[in-house]
Amino acid sequence: MSNDFKLDPILNGDQRQPFKKDEYTPLNKQVYVKAGEMMSDKGYEEAYLADVLRFKMKRDNKRFWAGDNISEYVSEDDKEKLIDEATEAFELVLDRLLIDRENDPNSKGTARRLAKMYFNEIMAGRFEPAPDATAFTNDSQDRYEGMLVVRSELRSMCSHHHQPVSGVAYIGIIAAQKLIGLSKYTRIAQWCARRGTLQEELANDIAREIEKATGAKDLGVYIQAVHGCCENRGIMAHSSLTQTTVLKGAFKDDGNTKKEFFDNIKLQQEFAPR
Ligand SMILES: [Zn+2]
Repeated sequence: MSNDFKLDPILNGDQRQPFKKDEYTPLNKQVYVKAGEMMSDKGYEEAYLADVLRFKMKRDNKRFWAGDNISEYVSEDDKEKLIDEATEAFELVLDRLLIDRENDPNSKGTARRLAKMYFNEIMAGRFEPAPDATAFTNDSQDRYEGMLVVRSELRSMCSHHHQPVSGVAYIGIIAAQKLIGLSKYTRIAQWCARRGTLQEELANDIAREIEKATGAKDLGVYIQAVHGCCENRGIMAHSSLTQTTVLKGAFKDDGNTKKEFFDNIKLQQEFAPR
């Protein structure tokens, strides 16, 4: 069997030809599929929805890496169909792993359990839109001008091995013109984490989304996490802890602000050790 990398025909199409719209048939609103490439002779119903959506994102230059949110492309109704398709694919994985999913009572429903878990739980943050974080104005005379540090429990998984990542994010901001409810910081962090991520990227994602929601330019995100891919396999290091930090504005440029942030984290850790 060849190990050569093959271009995905659905995503890449015929590289020699420019895209000619009249060769394609409209499907599902704006999606065009080339006859013969995505359909069997039974018609459109035979095309995998996942392939149609990948085609659409590729056409729009929409990145769909494991850590990206693709909720604009996936409706609630789509999810059921996507779970069915992923179930079929996981069945094939189990077959290839030589696991008797017909007779082993513990493996019977595993393919569907895996598919549902990916869409509804461990990768839910890819398919759900951003949590609603209504902002309250913080512009009165006695507005809060101090630092706010929120501790958020995180569960994620690494893109490389699909192993669990669990830890804590400390999110600090200097309050700007608007504030969001305290639970929203954690909702946003968890929404970013429920994807396939790298811890380094996750810290950046949380910082970007918190900046978007609060308008704060001065902010810091510090994450401490343990990685299943280091604990359960590979180096089998049971006490490995990875720390990542993203600092912006005064958190980066002003030594006192930075110190206050890390002092706050230490206080938090005394309160709730991990
Ligand atoms: Zn890993």
